[in-house]
Amino acid sequence: MPRAAPARAAARRGPGGRRGALASAQNHRHISRRRRRGHTLAPRHRRPTHPRLKGSPVTHPRDAHAPVDPHDVDLGGIRGWLFDLDGVLTPTAIVHMHAWARLFAPFLEAQGAEPYRDADYFAYIDGKPRYDGVRSLLESRGIRLPEGAVSDAPTEETVHGLGNRKNEAFNATLAEEGVEPYPASVALLDAIERAGGDVAVVSSSKNAPAVLEAAGLAERFEVVVDGAVAAREGIVGKPAPDMFERAAELLGLAPEECAVIEDAESGVKAGASGPFALVVGVDRGVGRQALTELGADVIVDELDELIPALERAGETSAIVNDAADPQTPTAAAAAVPEEEDRA
Ligand SMILES: [Mg+2]
Repeated sequence: MPRAAPARAAARRGPGGRRGALASAQNHRHISRRRRRGHTLAPRHRRPTHPRLKGSPVTHPRDAHAPVDPHDVDLGGIRGWLFDLDGVLTPTAIVHMHAWARLFAPFLEAQGAEPYRDADYFAYIDGKPRYDGVRSLLESRGIRLPEGAVSDAPTEETVHGLGNRKNEAFNATLAEEGVEPYPASVALLDAIERAGGDVAVVSSSKNAPAVLEAAGLAERFEVVVDGAVAAREGIVGKPAPDMFERAAELLGLAPEECAVIEDAESGVKAGASGPFALVVGVDRGVGRQALTELGADVIVDELDELIPALERAGETSAIVNDAADPQTPTAAAAAVPEEEDRA
């Protein structure tokens, strides 16, 4: 008798269940390392095939080892959508760029150093944790400052003081300039809402609530697992899958019922190393090949490319719900084995 996918995952996680998330993450990371070394791991060992994908004319992405066309992907049975924020819902990089300029242009001028240019952002700051970005830029100008401490006031002339000043500049820039969400991402959010799906934001940034507010998206997300939540709850950050798993749990769903949507390397890795139903890579510059190698199942330039598949899944689901005998294996498997998973 076929067993529901989430129940299998619970069995795999052992008696610790979700509380055993750390051990689970270790295991996922182990799997990732094996993949990187070139071992082929059968997809069924990495995560169960979703019941709705059985018998589908579309090969499950994990079986194909190649991205599935966004129009062909089977989204039936995906009940939760776990969105990264920066680069997926909002073009926040531009706000960060402006904030760094707001910090360093006057600072470098006061130091009599070579003026700050946008190219400095890409050369010394982009992608690094905030204080590392400060150190790197200062080094490029031959400026040495004391390290200071995380608790330093933004007015202090230390590495941490400048980093904290940048955060202030970020919030000020956000408040003044706002940030427009990607229209295609909003279109997908609308389509998910129409289909009755659940959504959450999973972001490493501690500024996620402010960004969501500025983008006019805050009311759409009851569940936000951001850097502040992760620090408070001791959740391991991306590339571990734990933040996404926590978001699924807060939605009341099993990870196997959720899709992860990411644009960054660490985020796609996080999705691919967890038991999620689908990992969608949004190509904002990482590149299709890199996203594929990192484990994305579907790659899009814009998220509205998923809407036709989502609407098709909704139609199929309506037909299945109307016609299915509740005792058939397919219907039983789709009937939320959530409590079983939590046992
Ligand atoms: Mg991102």
